Amino acid sequence: MSEQLVIDESVYKEIIAHSFELKPIESCGYLAGKNNHITKLYKMVNIDNEPDHFSFEPKEQFAVLKDSRANDLQLLSVYHSHPESPARPSQEDLRLLKDPNMIYVIVSLEHDTPDLKAYRIVDSEVSELTVSIK
Ligand SMILES: [Zn+2]
Repeated sequence: MSEQLVIDESVYKEIIAHSFELKPIESCGYLAGKNNHITKLYKMVNIDNEPDHFSFEPKEQFAVLKDSRANDLQLLSVYHSHPESPARPSQEDLRLLKDPNMIYVIVSLEHDTPDLKAYRIVDSEVSELTVSIK
């Protein structure tokens, strides 16, 4: 059975809106919550400002970590968009996304309807989670 991830509908809408807003640049951010249930989004600046790559700004990362702790939430997930490609980890993602404790959410805007998928990446081994929007 695959791991389950629940995303609040309001957060899901924010992820999609953020991704369209930044297109053709990749959007990125953190998703916070508890027990694989995401209830809060932190939009981050993509300091690479690239259509096929993203990086966080360390000070902003630290501020998010502090805020999530203050709200008694865990940073469960890092999300980013793929403006022109499918919602699966790119070679670049496999090279860079290495935290086994993170769920990596990828939103594809390749087609008219956005496609959101979530993954664990452990030692370059990718497993997809079942996502429900509630
Ligand atoms: Zn990517």
